[in-house]
Amino acid sequence: MAIKRDYYEILGVKKDAGSEDIKKAFRKMAFQCHPDHNHDDGAEGRFKEINEAYEVLSNAEKRSTYDRFGHAGVDGFSGQDFEGFGGMGSIFEDFYEFFSGATSSAHKSPKRGSDIRSQATITMEEAAFGCQRNIDISRIENCTACHGTRAKPGSQPIRCPDCNGNGRVQRVQQSLFGRFANIVTCPRCEGEGKTITELCPQCRGTGKEKHKRSITIEIPAGVDDGNEMRLNGQGNVGERGGPAGNIYITVTVLPHRLFKRDGANILYELPVNFAQAALGADLTVPTLHGEVKLKVPAGSQTGQIFQFKGKGIPYLNRNRHGDQLVRLLVVTPERLTKQQRQLFQELADSLSRDDKKGK
Ligand SMILES: [Zn+2]
Ligand SMILES: [Zn+2]
Repeated sequence: MAIKRDYYEILGVKKDAGSEDIKKAFRKMAFQCHPDHNHDDGAEGRFKEINEAYEVLSNAEKRSTYDRFGHAGVDGFSGQDFEGFGGMGSIFEDFYEFFSGATSSAHKSPKRGSDIRSQATITMEEAAFGCQRNIDISRIENCTACHGTRAKPGSQPIRCPDCNGNGRVQRVQQSLFGRFANIVTCPRCEGEGKTITELCPQCRGTGKEKHKRSITIEIPAGVDDGNEMRLNGQGNVGERGGPAGNIYITVTVLPHRLFKRDGANILYELPVNFAQAALGADLTVPTLHGEVKLKVPAGSQTGQIFQFKGKGIPYLNRNRHGDQLVRLLVVTPERLTKQQRQLFQELADSLSRDDKKGK
């Protein structure tokens, strides 16, 4: 395809010329080049060129398509591609509709970078009070030498010669009804309209580099096993100026030696012996916030629960803590000394006498 001259240039008008100026310029030029008046070599070709330019620039819709996409956007409409059609008018309009609809997706649009997934393992104490973690990730970033342009630093991308910077090229297909002009994304520049003369040596023209990064994250107090943290815009870099992806970190909270967690509450099982349960006892109980005193009343039963308000884990993003729930577990001794056996026997006799009295 021969390189076409700019329509504005052909008519000798500015890009922002009004329709009257375009009309005047066309008349003047057409008069000069009309084959009836001008028998110079090439006059006929110039006359055709002028007509074509005027056909596009005198039509507001076609002109705006031309302004946006250049020749590639309007070429399908110049008469010569539709040889064989009798009535051009309506078909012309139909194709125009088709093209103007297709143009929106012409250029490859910016694409968001992909997400990075990682994980952090923390203790229950760290989950309760919050902590910092360094997360090692491997991230795609813009090349530090070319800043993602793919061009060798100092070199400038040039207008793509295949599409003349439009990002689209015309592909003409022969069909039963004549020749169809299809507008497709320029394969050379992939629609960007620019092409690089010298590739960046550092990234070999990809514009991207993979970097190992250590990211410090603040894990908030109250986080639970399986929770996911999102670091917005810290993932892999986007394509063609698109935003970066996110980093998602899945938090694993390790089980605790003493405590079980139920949401914001901590469950703790406190073993006591028969005597402590029967007579009562003053005991200390561990919590995530340090030891607390528990007065076990006389006659406590196994399974009985004591609540320590606010000694649990904070609710995520709320200024409130859960509780620690202490469950008594009365432990039956498995081995007894001779003396203990004797004492239990006396106790048993005494209890059975009480039972008989009670009846
Ligand atoms: Zn580079
Ligand atoms: Zn191109």
